[in-house]
Amino acid sequence: MAKQSTPKLGHIQNWIFDLDNTLYPADADFFSQIDKKMTGFISRYLGLDREKARALQKEYLVEYGTSLSGLMAVNGMDPAAFLEDVHDVDLSMLSPDPLLRAHIQALPGRKFIYTNGSRGHAKNVASHLNLFDLFDGSFGIESADYIPKPRREPYDKFCAVFDIDPKSAIFFEDNLRNLKAPKDMGMHTVLLTSNEDFSHEPAAVRPAGAQGGASFVDDITHDLTSWLGGVLKAL
Ligand SMILES: [Mg+2]
Repeated sequence: MAKQSTPKLGHIQNWIFDLDNTLYPADADFFSQIDKKMTGFISRYLGLDREKARALQKEYLVEYGTSLSGLMAVNGMDPAAFLEDVHDVDLSMLSPDPLLRAHIQALPGRKFIYTNGSRGHAKNVASHLNLFDLFDGSFGIESADYIPKPRREPYDKFCAVFDIDPKSAIFFEDNLRNLKAPKDMGMHTVLLTSNEDFSHEPAAVRPAGAQGGASFVDDITHDLTSWLGGVLKAL
């Protein structure tokens, strides 16, 4: 079970952050826009009513890691139009957190964004949050040859591309299953939780609730900003 005390992270030289519901709180309910746009796109693309499109979207998410991967594997879809459409969302509901910026800036070593979304999405969102310039690189689904987390291959590619020794790295994620590979590789893992009700999502892919927890999770927090603040004090 995860420890509650502040961990010793003096060995960490690479700080890797998921994007959605990690660099901003899930409580912002921002991601639901993308979720709905995916349903709309699948509905149009496959000529299904919204209910059937949504069921397929979630089925693919469970089975293939992302809905996009299922659409590519099963329906032979070209990813470009999909990624452009679903990431065309209203950013105004997300507010920059100046203290989060200060903390990420103060972390020693390199910082990265690793998202199952597109690199363009990472840039748009992280720029809106006034964080993007702090990162040494971002890795999106195109960078991963469209193989999503939680599959192991893209994590290996990520580390190869940025020359990262996993033992010197820490991984922040809101999706529990995406932390298993980083832990297997030797990274420190941190799960972001929220009080949002995700019971509408399939259990296998549901973001962690406040209870969180799994053997491959080293730490759990509800608040990335204050957690990093504590870590910085302990470094
Ligand atoms: Mg996420």
